[in-house]
Amino acid sequence: MKILVLNSGSSTQKSALFDLDPTPSSEPTPLLWEGKLEWDGDKETLTLKNADGNKFNAEAVVQAKDRRSSLEKMLQKLWQPPTQTIRNGSEIAVVGHRIVHGGPHLCQPTIITSEVKQAIADVSAIAPLHNKAGLQGIEIAEKLFPGKPQVAVFDTGFHRTLPPHAAVYPGPYEWFEHGIRRYGFHGISHEYCGHRAARMLGREISSLKIISCHLGNGCSLAAIDAGKSVDTTMGFTPLEGIMMGTRGGSVDPGILLQLMRADHTSVDQLDETLNRRSGLLGISGVSSDMRDVVKAAGNGNERAKLAFDIFVHRLQTGIAAMAASLGGVDAIAFTAGIGENSAEVRRATCAKLGFLGAQIDEGKNALAKPDVEISTSKSAVRVLVIRAQEDWSIARECAELTRTM
Ligand code: ADP
Repeated sequence: MKILVLNSGSSTQKSALFDLDPTPSSEPTPLLWEGKLEWDGDKETLTLKNADGNKFNAEAVVQAKDRRSSLEKMLQKLWQPPTQTIRNGSEIAVVGHRIVHGGPHLCQPTIITSEVKQAIADVSAIAPLHNKAGLQGIEIAEKLFPGKPQVAVFDTGFHRTLPPHAAVYPGPYEWFEHGIRRYGFHGISHEYCGHRAARMLGREISSLKIISCHLGNGCSLAAIDAGKSVDTTMGFTPLEGIMMGTRGGSVDPGILLQLMRADHTSVDQLDETLNRRSGLLGISGVSSDMRDVVKAAGNGNERAKLAFDIFVHRLQTGIAAMAASLGGVDAIAFTAGIGENSAEVRRATCAKLGFLGAQIDEGKNALAKPDVEISTSKSAVRVLVIRAQEDWSIARECAELTRTM
């Protein structure tokens, strides 16, 4: 069955097509088609490729970002040259959507009905920024693929097992009563990573304590005990936790009070600062991309070096915190853009993790091509590099859920 996955981020819209058996295996299958829209200011970039190696790339200047029509045009390229992959939209069996925030009630992958759409919209009351793009994707898919089942998979869902002591913030208890709690994100990636790590180690996941490090543009860690998330670094929103490309992760909330009182910084300005002007970009002043930061640091740029050092420091202390939550650790898995590709980040991070029992082989780390183990034979903690497979994981959930329909 041909399954189309829509993955909406704040400044990107990705889409991927898979062909899966109704009973899919646990090994990812290759992409048939991939589309990506990226917005940077008024610049829109569209990148498409198909399994035959055909590519399409276009840049446009868009005054007011119109995600809806851009997404619709991108999806029509599924049946248009040069990346044509299907004859028409009727070949799509199911459309799966990554929905960032499920709120307190939406946890399991679910067939989208008007009630589910309303529930996704209702989460806006506690998380106004998160689900708008996801809902737009659902509406466009309804238009382009009428009558086809659609499935929502929630990035918060995997963390539904967080124990109360990890989920409840130590503010007034009413916060929790009003839905303000740690939800955690990147759950689709962390869950896949945990299961993949267990398969790579030839062990049952029920016997393992795993720290999954999702290091992409957004970064978060998950403490996975016997396959269940018991702690994670992102919180009520994807702003908390370790350092990221344009987000700083955790900062003293007193800084925000100070900026509001002393500089009269508005909510929108704070939002912009925390989401887009912090992290690797904010410190280095060079880029949010780790490749550029490492290059600039290598060329003697002091702020780029500081950005790298803070990133690694926050990652090390985050990993140690996850190990404490687990009460031990059997495996640490690095995944997503930085986790999969940056030998420098993995080397620098693991340099201080010997006390946990993690020791990496410098040669294996330098040459690592996921999925691969990079720890030495003596290392008590196995260290793995795993390719992120969020879209395929969503497609798999779609196949599972619609098999009996
Ligand atoms: P997203 O979170 O948008 O899915 P990715 O998982 O693709 O992002 O990760 C993007 C990040 O991966 C980029 O910001 C870049 O810093 C990093 N990255 C990609 N390739 C490399 C590389 N070879 N070395 C270091 N970092 C890399």
